[in-house]
Amino acid sequence: MAAGEFHLVYQPKFHVDAFAYESVEALLRWTHPVHGAIPPGEFIPLVENTTLIHLITEWVLHTALAQLAEWQTQGLDLAIAINVSARNLEHPDFLKVIRNACSLHSIRLNLLQIECTENAALTGQATLQTLQEIRSMGVRVSLDDFGIGYCNLACLHSLPAELLKLDRSLVAPIVSDMRARALLQSIITLGRAMGYRLLAEGVEDAQVFDLLFSMGCDEMQGYYLCRPIPADAVVAFTQKWVNAGDENFSVPCVAISEIAL
Ligand code: C2E
Ligand code: CA
Ligand code: CA
Repeated sequence: MAAGEFHLVYQPKFHVDAFAYESVEALLRWTHPVHGAIPPGEFIPLVENTTLIHLITEWVLHTALAQLAEWQTQGLDLAIAINVSARNLEHPDFLKVIRNACSLHSIRLNLLQIECTENAALTGQATLQTLQEIRSMGVRVSLDDFGIGYCNLACLHSLPAELLKLDRSLVAPIVSDMRARALLQSIITLGRAMGYRLLAEGVEDAQVFDLLFSMGCDEMQGYYLCRPIPADAVVAFTQKWVNAGDENFSVPCVAISEIAL
């Protein structure tokens, strides 16, 4: 961190109801001077076992909020999501850290989303309580990698979240596998009936996009729509979308693929 080897990239989320990109997820990148790019899937699990995760999450939070403030001055109206670990939620000062960061960067609390995995959210009563407090502050909570963890059907009744992010392993097979499609449709229908928003991760092609569109998914994210991109490319991407939006409105996937490629 001190050597400036970390940076964030941003993956836009497509909101089906608004037919627009209304939020982005911040994803951490580490470029090591000797080993090159090290993916977060390799170093985050190691850092999560140490107290360094608090410093990293705080750095991500501040960097993402400073970027959001910068976009706001350029007229971009977005919400931003950051990923947090179970250990962050267990830290007694975590709420204070969030509140202070939002106030420092003059960001409304409801423009911040906290993403944690379903398993991290369900580690214990204290974590659930923290997530509820985060929500009552006005910050949004999303459950990441949803559908592959501990949560059973009874859990759906009272998850401390607004948004469930359906794991891409549930999304990828829906074109070729009827049972996978039936499973995903059931989760979407049940989740929405319980008052959650549903986001599909890992949307990689037009066929998957079209199916999810017809299945009533609220939000989508994936390489087909947009890969994680640097901050300055977010401005260009969303601008291009706004300009192309009207004429292609009736053919969503064509419009999106033209923009994404
Ligand atoms: P995640 O939160 O589930 O993030 C989604 C991952 O899937 C990202 O990988 C993203 O680049 C990738 N992805 C997005 N769309 C597609 C797609 O269409 N197809 C495929 N195959 N992959 C797609 P990334 O950036 O390598 O991050 C991996 C994981 O590392 C994240 O999974 C998250 O758990 C963790 N992570 C990333 N940044 C942070 C961070 O700042 N803090 C913490 N605690 N964890 C982070
Ligand atoms: Ca995530
Ligand atoms: Ca995920």
